[in-house]
Amino acid sequence: MTDLTSLTLAEARKGLADKTFTSLELTDAHLSAIEKARVLNAFVMETPDQARSMAREADAKIAKGDAGPLAGIPLGIKDLFATKGVRTTACSKILGNFVPTYESTITSQLWRDGAVMLGKLNNDEFAMGSANETSCFGPVGNPWRREGSNTTLVPGGSSGGSASAVAALLCMGATATDTGGSIRQPAAFTATVGIKPTYGRCSRWGIVAFASSLDQAGPIARSVRDSAMLLRSMAGHDPKDTTSVDIAVPDYEASIGKSVKGMKIGIPKEYRLDGMPAEIEKLWSEGAAWLKAAGAELVEVSLPHTKYALPAYYIVAPAEASSNLARYDGVRYGLREQGKTIIEQYENTRARGFGAEVRRRVMIGTYVLSAGYYDAYYLRAQKVRTLIKKDFEDCFAKGVNAILTPATPSAAFGIGEKGGADPVEMYLNDIFTVTVNMAGLPGIAVPSGKDAQGLPLGLQLIGRPFEEETLFSLGEVIEQAAGRFTPARWW
Ligand code: GLN
Repeated sequence: MTDLTSLTLAEARKGLADKTFTSLELTDAHLSAIEKARVLNAFVMETPDQARSMAREADAKIAKGDAGPLAGIPLGIKDLFATKGVRTTACSKILGNFVPTYESTITSQLWRDGAVMLGKLNNDEFAMGSANETSCFGPVGNPWRREGSNTTLVPGGSSGGSASAVAALLCMGATATDTGGSIRQPAAFTATVGIKPTYGRCSRWGIVAFASSLDQAGPIARSVRDSAMLLRSMAGHDPKDTTSVDIAVPDYEASIGKSVKGMKIGIPKEYRLDGMPAEIEKLWSEGAAWLKAAGAELVEVSLPHTKYALPAYYIVAPAEASSNLARYDGVRYGLREQGKTIIEQYENTRARGFGAEVRRRVMIGTYVLSAGYYDAYYLRAQKVRTLIKKDFEDCFAKGVNAILTPATPSAAFGIGEKGGADPVEMYLNDIFTVTVNMAGLPGIAVPSGKDAQGLPLGLQLIGRPFEEETLFSLGEVIEQAAGRFTPARWW
């Protein structure tokens, strides 16, 4: 029998249905892979007992012919999702050993459909970061290395644990969240597929909030088809999240293999950056050529406000974060550092509980929202956001079905290599992804090739609101042309 951990989710589903193996066997194979890969630090909590009991339950259902669409499939869960009875920390010291008494809507839908939980995955503290280096549990290793080098690289962030675990074959898929790029950038750094759906497609209920008007959850998976299968279970209307949208969830998998003939694909000229590695330019043209060969029509488009997206994001996101994180006061959850007065208790708790990057965001956010600066920063950033959204709307109004861009401006870098002296250096990682969150659109990152050092690179497709299906069809064309990539095992 082939190693069960190397199957795609779709292949595992077939093997389970055909009774070639059981969910318990599949789950055990992944649990032992996790044990051997602890050096990657992808999991911050392993839940083997729960995994085995969920797997047995799935096996019983499969035997009875009563299996859900994800029956018996072992998944990893980003530690930003509340899991009932299982510690949930957002990888922040301030949450301490917080154990939720409730389950997030998304994870409860995955369990409803039969999936198995292997454990909780590492991420940047409160999902703030692009390298998974701000986690209170320490950095995550990327299973990919530069050819001939032993340097451990970052898996991207903030969903670094999700991307690393999927790429290293520790779980068949993972939940992730994306506020400015945190699904798509780590997917690109690890040769996995990541989709951030349209804002409102998935419920945010039970996910630790970072910037509520930008946060959206989605899957990281091994193939485009797998990501379609996972999104179908994750998506849907939820009365507990007033921003979730009541639109029927399509069978996303049906869009895999659908013809893309006649689709109009926009190539935005503003995404051609000075100093961008030639390999990324080349990959972008290659991607365009693959879509053209499949019958799509390529058109140059302009998104003139692109250059303002990153600065505006770094006002809107910290502003919302400073407000969302006000609840961590040492009274209601997790860590409490005593003080002589209640104010001192708040101050001590927040000073010791939050890491440096989170404190920076809270301070920036509080500043841009304060009287006297609100109009100059926050209000202006909101206006810029409207213009960014309008750029995309104008483009779609001209008949463009999707937009093709690079996913990231570089391949993965070494741990500690970026952002030490200047945080903006780290923020620049999201240059191609934040626009999509600002406009609330769906975006998918698909592995598309490698750079000269053998590191994976991804392309991004941006779609019209609630047209994730178009992204799956186009993503499949890219995956078919580029092939799939697996890292050589060193751990
Ligand atoms: N890297 C971006 C940030 O630090 C985006 C993070 C995310 O999408 N959660 O804000």
